[in-house]
Amino acid sequence: MQLVSMEIDGFKSFAHKTTIKFQPGMTGIIGPNGSGKSNVIEALRWVMGEQSAKTLRGGKMVDVIFNGSKDHHPLNRAVVKMTLDNSDHYLQSQYSEITVTRKLYRNGDSEYLINDHRVRLKDIVDLFINSGIGRESFSIISQGRVAEIFNGQPSDRRRIIETVAGVAKYKQNKTTAEKKLQETAERLDRVNDIVVELE
Ligand code: ATP
Repeated sequence: MQLVSMEIDGFKSFAHKTTIKFQPGMTGIIGPNGSGKSNVIEALRWVMGEQSAKTLRGGKMVDVIFNGSKDHHPLNRAVVKMTLDNSDHYLQSQYSEITVTRKLYRNGDSEYLINDHRVRLKDIVDLFINSGIGRESFSIISQGRVAEIFNGQPSDRRRIIETVAGVAKYKQNKTTAEKKLQETAERLDRVNDIVVELE
């Protein structure tokens, strides 16, 4: 699976539709301060379903829509498309090439599409789940996140390592199973009480 291209239109500093082709050998994006390098990465995070405006350095989600500059009026919608080569079917999908699109309008309406079919946010999240990419993964580490990891409590760092190592989901499953066991034990106690009363 490989990221082939991205199309960014009306997202943050991208007032005009911009296509970035990730050709073999491309390893970085360079540019002057404030030219939009981080916005490219945020567009990637956003199209994969990011729901936190704060993670995208905004107050509200509509802040990602281009809000005007001295030469361009503000826009009413942001669109980001990401195309992946999935010929190895690394992502569990019938498609060999997958284009994920996210659109957001200033009135708050949003749309998600996979290969031009309208889908739910959950479908996008499910597409990337357990793939090592996606909104929750550590395949994208922002500058702020690096400092957060270094300055965090040992317990926070441990949680991150567990997430990366894939242990976190088993811990969560264990907690859920323990809760169910406890509920079952409580129900059993109640049944025993009723049996005693009836005898
Ligand atoms: P640095 O090298 O300093 O980290 P950078 O190249 O990563 O910078 P970004 O942080 O990606 O740059 O882009 C910042 C620019 O994006 C700023 O000029 C900011 O005004 C612009 N910007 C952010 N959100 C919007 C928006 N909604 N509409 C228009 N411009 C925006």
